[in-house]
Amino acid sequence: MTGLDILPPGRRQLLIGGSWQEASGGKRFDVVDPADGSVLTTVANASAGDAMDALDAAVAAQVDWARTAPRERGEILRRAFDRLTEQADDIAELMSLEMGKTVAEAKGELSYGAEFFRWYAEEAVRIHGRWMQAPAGGSRLLTIKKPVGPCFFVTPWNFPLAMGTRKIGPAIAAGCTMVIKPAAQTPLTMLALAGLLADVGLPDGVLNIVTTTAAGEVGEAVMADDRLRKVSFTGSTGVGKVLVRQSADQLLRVSMELGGNAPFIVFEDADVDAAVDGAMIAKMRNMGEACTSANRFLVHTSVAEEFGDKLGKRMGALTVGRGQDEGVDVGPLIDEKAVESVSQLVTDAVHDGATVITGGTVPDGPGYFYPPTVLVDVHPESAINVEEIFGPVAAITTFETEAEAIRRANDTDYGLASYVYTRDLARTIRVAESLDFGMVGINTGLISNPAAPFGGMKASGFGREGGFEGIEEYLETTYVALPAG
Ligand code: NAP
Repeated sequence: MTGLDILPPGRRQLLIGGSWQEASGGKRFDVVDPADGSVLTTVANASAGDAMDALDAAVAAQVDWARTAPRERGEILRRAFDRLTEQADDIAELMSLEMGKTVAEAKGELSYGAEFFRWYAEEAVRIHGRWMQAPAGGSRLLTIKKPVGPCFFVTPWNFPLAMGTRKIGPAIAAGCTMVIKPAAQTPLTMLALAGLLADVGLPDGVLNIVTTTAAGEVGEAVMADDRLRKVSFTGSTGVGKVLVRQSADQLLRVSMELGGNAPFIVFEDADVDAAVDGAMIAKMRNMGEACTSANRFLVHTSVAEEFGDKLGKRMGALTVGRGQDEGVDVGPLIDEKAVESVSQLVTDAVHDGATVITGGTVPDGPGYFYPPTVLVDVHPESAINVEEIFGPVAAITTFETEAEAIRRANDTDYGLASYVYTRDLARTIRVAESLDFGMVGINTGLISNPAAPFGGMKASGFGREGGFEGIEEYLETTYVALPAG
């Protein structure tokens, strides 16, 4: 069984209250293969009314689900982790088909995404409040944790599975029900995941899925209903702001995982070869289509030439092609618009004085390919340094002093991931404490870990996914005042 076969036609539909069903009016939309623009299949296209049916189902299931024993919720997650691991090859193929990333990358995402289920299977049984004596003596203070209630999850196309499991794992562990709206470009992986969760015993109505091309209408309808208690969104800062505004009327609990503009700083005392290895991961994971992707390479003038040459050689040696083919390192970008946007940023950077070391030219079609590209002598104020590139382009600028590196790294609206290469311990501490980012990687190009709190500050949003912190987003606290007895 491979690729599309893992998702039978009966599951390319909405999942509402445990039943797979067509959208009202039988509407469907196409899912496209970004490697050649062909239609892979179609899925149900939910209306706002369908989404409200999904919310009804989530609300109906909430009370019983919240009463389920924590161990039972944990065991469902643990079975889901095992099943995802068993089916990793097939789901990776499906993800690769709809999103474009190589099957090897998709397997990496599967493994990362599944770990949120294992982690929160373990956390489900460790939800607890506290008991203390009031400081003045006498009364006792008790706190109780409860699930927040029905949630609305909106996820992006770049990590079709992991951006879901980071929300679904803690929500299941905490006892919340949910309505999920996956990205219209990559609905298949989420549908496969929903089927898998149903197969391992998740009760009907706990997880409901609405695939749709009407994101705005669906979001607006669900968010306006006062039975919803939380929204968690991963995607662009622009859409995040819309959802935060919409959340105000119901005063929803809100988690926002938004865009990034990660600096990758290489100091003069860095191991340059290790920095190039890290850069390949921080830049090329997911073809650069990651919120954590290294966007601005800030390299000390004394090592800039060596770093640029070595990175150019490594990037230039990568093989671009269809993600399901053997020997391919870099798949297509998600769509034509993505190629145009990356291409425009490179053209503008060159116009502002940058030099192309490798790549930089869009290949002939079909498919939405862009080659791994390295630019040196990039002007710090070029658009490529200000905007999220979301493609396989490394833009290198230089700096002279540590203070300049920190100032320029922080000179962005965003505050998600950052990377630092240095062998100096005192500098490591100084710089890590000075960077205004939710995450700092020291001498590593890979920071995401299900046991760590992932999230940003400033225009990168708020809230944390993963770690001990991740489950708090799905819990309310009730304080009970008790007499001394
Ligand atoms: P996007 O355009 O914001 O879309 C994300 C999701 O929001 C999709 O499901 C989209 O639906 C939906 N959406 C769009 N407009 C909406 C509206 N008015 N109301 C409700 N939902 C709406 O972002 P993207 O291009 O898919 O993803 C890339 C962005 O995500 C980048 O900025 C990246 O940095 C960020 N990201 C952040 C993290 C993180 O953890 N911080 C992780 C991954 C990605 P449609 O698919 O139908 O448009």
